[in-house]
Amino acid sequence: MTRLTTQPDASTRTRSAELFERAVQVIPGGVNSPVRAFGAVGGTPPFVVSGRGPWLTDADGARYVDLVCSWGPMILGHAHPAVVDAVRAAAVDGLSFGAPTEGEVALAEEIVARVEPVEQVRLVNSGTEATMSAVRLARGATGRRVIVKFAGCYHGHVDALLAQAGSGVATFGLPTSPGVTGAQAADTVVLPYNDLDAVAAVFAERGDEIACVITEAAAGNMGVVAPSPGFNAGLRSLASQHGALLVIDEVMTGFRVSRSGWYGIEGVPGDLYTFGKVMSGGLPAAAFGGRAELMGHLAPAGPVYQAGTLSGNPIAVAAGLATLRAADDAVYAALDANAGRLGGLIDEALTSAGVPHQVQYAGNMLSVFFAEAPVTDFATASAAQTWRFPPFFRELLGRGVYPPPSAFEAWFVSSALDDEAFEVIEAALPAAARAAAAAVDPAGGGR
Ligand SMILES: *Cc1c(COP(=O)(O)O)cnc(C)c1O
Repeated sequence: MTRLTTQPDASTRTRSAELFERAVQVIPGGVNSPVRAFGAVGGTPPFVVSGRGPWLTDADGARYVDLVCSWGPMILGHAHPAVVDAVRAAAVDGLSFGAPTEGEVALAEEIVARVEPVEQVRLVNSGTEATMSAVRLARGATGRRVIVKFAGCYHGHVDALLAQAGSGVATFGLPTSPGVTGAQAADTVVLPYNDLDAVAAVFAERGDEIACVITEAAAGNMGVVAPSPGFNAGLRSLASQHGALLVIDEVMTGFRVSRSGWYGIEGVPGDLYTFGKVMSGGLPAAAFGGRAELMGHLAPAGPVYQAGTLSGNPIAVAAGLATLRAADDAVYAALDANAGRLGGLIDEALTSAGVPHQVQYAGNMLSVFFAEAPVTDFATASAAQTWRFPPFFRELLGRGVYPPPSAFEAWFVSSALDDEAFEVIEAALPAAARAAAAAVDPAGGGR
């Protein structure tokens, strides 16, 4: 509790601001991944100097309860002793060889043991690479071109997967980023999330052209929107009926929402899976996997090319293995309990302040929508009162709580959150909720 009074005054927080000024000179927008720039919430981002358990410390000495957890990976909290020891031990034996190591086999075995439909995995360096490679493999294995994705689902910055539809009807994707050509997006069909009828309609029309349907196991990149009951199972049966593959993107959910990811909660089998985030414990590694027969299409066993100089890096593999081995039943129980406790506190504070809101969960991932009714897809997520989020966020940050700096991102708990961290959260929420209540709709709709 004493920590509450040791937060530096805002006027003395200058070191991060200075670092950001330097950063924007030499790094586009000052950051190496866009959402870190705080564009949606205003102000400049704290520069982090260290993390320990549930806490981050910034360059001005301010401490925050971390509810981003590196966007998912840090389920054990920061600088977990078992993970740090494993990284240190691996590092002294050499950083990279470009040759096989035992750790890669052990990490692949750990993943295969946890997710039943996965018999083989190939390690890569980011979730983006995993989905890119899975889509290539799906196209290579089926000999088809078209991929179906859902609006509001993010699968990394793969050209073909940045495409989004302008409306909720089945259309050809239009590129949503300059630099993605029409040709790269032309074979991507974008449909509304949780709309099985739309998927059935596209399959009825173009079923024999569709290589795969790719979906987040539970959507977490438009805020948290769980699949409605039967949605993933419906995708499974439609894909099977038409000879297409179901690619389940568990980069966010994998090894977080249960020891077997979303598969462990819902049990709907995909043909291919993508993993990242938790599986590498905060270092750059990711994976894609599936049945041995499908994975056998990959080089050098088969003709679909895929490679990586640093893939299976021994340090990243050591961090991932140590994280997964430490993530036992007690850790998953703590993650679930902490998500429920956090969501309960948010709900209570916003209810007291009279702010319309939905705290939505997918397992232990959660997010807050300022909406009157549950959010089920990207259209309803976009229609929420997102203008309430920046003042809500800024009050929390100023009071030592670090939520994701965007209304469209999941909040991530770690098993390291303790009573002291929750006291800081509980103390910060009422003022944040009042700021959300006082926010004014810039479009002029009043409050
Ligand atoms: C984070 C994420 C990715 C991209 O992973 P990167 O490592 O950032 O490239 C892909 N899919 C989902 C569902 C994600 O949450």
